[in-house]
Amino acid sequence: MRTKNELIELTITGMTAEGNGVGRYEGEAVFVPDTAVGDEIICKIVKPLKRYAFGIIDTLKTPSPDRIKPDCSVAKPCGGCLFRHLQYDAELKIKETIVRDAFTRLGGLSPDFLPILGCTDTDGYRNKAQYPIALQDGKAVCGFYARRSHRLIPYTDCNLQPPVFSEILIAALERINASNLPPYDETSHKGLLRHIYLRRGAHSGEIMLCFVMRKNSPLLRTIAEEMMRLFPDIKSVCVNLNPDKTNVILGKETLCICGSETITDIMCGNRISLSPASFYQVNTLQAERLYQIAAEFAQLTGQETLLDLYCGAGTIGLSMAKRVKRLVGVEIIPQAVENAKQNAAANGIENAEFYCGDAGTIAEQLVEKGEAPDVIVVDPPRKGCDQATIAAVVKMSPRRVVMISCNPATAARDCALFDQLGYHTETVRAVDLFPRTGHTECIVKLTRAGLSQ
Ligand code: SAH
Repeated sequence: MRTKNELIELTITGMTAEGNGVGRYEGEAVFVPDTAVGDEIICKIVKPLKRYAFGIIDTLKTPSPDRIKPDCSVAKPCGGCLFRHLQYDAELKIKETIVRDAFTRLGGLSPDFLPILGCTDTDGYRNKAQYPIALQDGKAVCGFYARRSHRLIPYTDCNLQPPVFSEILIAALERINASNLPPYDETSHKGLLRHIYLRRGAHSGEIMLCFVMRKNSPLLRTIAEEMMRLFPDIKSVCVNLNPDKTNVILGKETLCICGSETITDIMCGNRISLSPASFYQVNTLQAERLYQIAAEFAQLTGQETLLDLYCGAGTIGLSMAKRVKRLVGVEIIPQAVENAKQNAAANGIENAEFYCGDAGTIAEQLVEKGEAPDVIVVDPPRKGCDQATIAAVVKMSPRRVVMISCNPATAARDCALFDQLGYHTETVRAVDLFPRTGHTECIVKLTRAGLSQ
């Protein structure tokens, strides 16, 4: 076992799914953040454990050839961009390996792996941001929390966001300070403004500005009107009410205070309306390519019934609606289901129906009704599908299941269960939806036993 503050010579030979570099010292794994494969460092041990240790860089003796200078002044304290110090190709290799390892090691599966689909724009690709607000030196400021803390570092210029977000933040903060709207204070649970939440349609350019408040304030109306005048692309200003002592960002209730209740974007050629509470992939252009792969994996002929579980505002299913006979979507957030129904109607899609509820519960009801979809798409949140959902999916006996996941570990676990229940994990592909960050997306094609090519 190592000792705290011990200095050791270490060569970084691999990367973990959390984005830490790892090297071996006297047979023990040592994990070091902000490193690159090939770095030769003097490592200071900060947390010695029984079989492994965590360290930090004391001296970077020989930098890895994968290293570049991070083009962001706050990369270190922020920690949002785990890989900004790496060539993009090196990042893609890491993400590909994370996905491969999850399926082979955790899942015990041996699918075909297609090469990772990298992103053409590695900056400015996000369509959504939620900035915490705090009071500093008597003024409202916004920025990000320093790594693993709730200490706010003022910053409005994140490279991952469209540049207009920064202009909007600066203008909004000026007005918030001029009107003395008090920022929320986590410790005392006093004050009002908790977050500023922005969303922008990548194709439409329409922007939603949402103030997340402990409770509503009449001061917001004037600010909202001014912001809409200043930025004609702001089509909707909302207030989300979050009265609780919590670090969950959004509360349950949202009110529109200016403009329309939703903004519209284009996704795979469909007009998509979005409420603040609806999930929408943060990287629209790359998500469109992901959904295209989903359609390829689904091998649609026009005769199918397609079940889209965890459908959000309906984007995936609707992108395939014209290539199937019937589309059924299931989603737990009521506003998103409303969006999905409106989105079907707005795009002249008449073969779609949407249900609000838990994926597993509704899937079980569909089983009882004798529904037998030909293809099922599952796109669960990070924790993956639960066993009841997988069991119900299998009972419906679809020819294929297409799984999309932002968590390779739970995706691999779920595919291993599908495997036991007769669904073969045929093809896996990593898709980089979140360049520079530690998040990894993947898409999987599962085929009912006996149907594999
Ligand atoms: N397929 C959509 C959304 C994927 S994100 C898209 O690509 O845009 C996952 C979605 O699952 C979210 O919309 C979330 O609200 C929903 N969700 C989370 N838990 C759920 C559950 N138990 N049952 C149904 N939907 C759920």
